[in-house]
Amino acid sequence: MGWPFEEGCACTPEKMAEAGFLHTPSDNCPDIAKCFFCLKELEGWEPEDDPAGEHKSHSPKCNFITLKKKVEELTVEEFLKLEKERQKWIIKKVPDEGIHNFEEAAKVIRTAIIKLASSEQ
Ligand SMILES: [Zn+2]
Repeated sequence: MGWPFEEGCACTPEKMAEAGFLHTPSDNCPDIAKCFFCLKELEGWEPEDDPAGEHKSHSPKCNFITLKKKVEELTVEEFLKLEKERQKWIIKKVPDEGIHNFEEAAKVIRTAIIKLASSEQ
């Protein structure tokens, strides 16, 4: 699946990439994009959306989108600091996803138990 917004849009693939977004489509969400840095996922893009602006408003603490310099202008020390921050985002994200998956599984099982209980009466 390609990115649905091309020429004449504010959120072209180039602008998306500059703002740190990777296209991570699924069957349900063909236009989902994820920040490689803070891992924020955004969907429901409109042609006039400004990727950097959307990124700042939905993930204001992302160290990548709030960078004052271009990545290629960073010193090694600045780059390593940035990489440390990126690892923090990843570490924070993994348990959140685990909890979410657990809750989803619990819902399915709960529904099955209720069904089973009501069919036995
Ligand atoms: Zn981000």
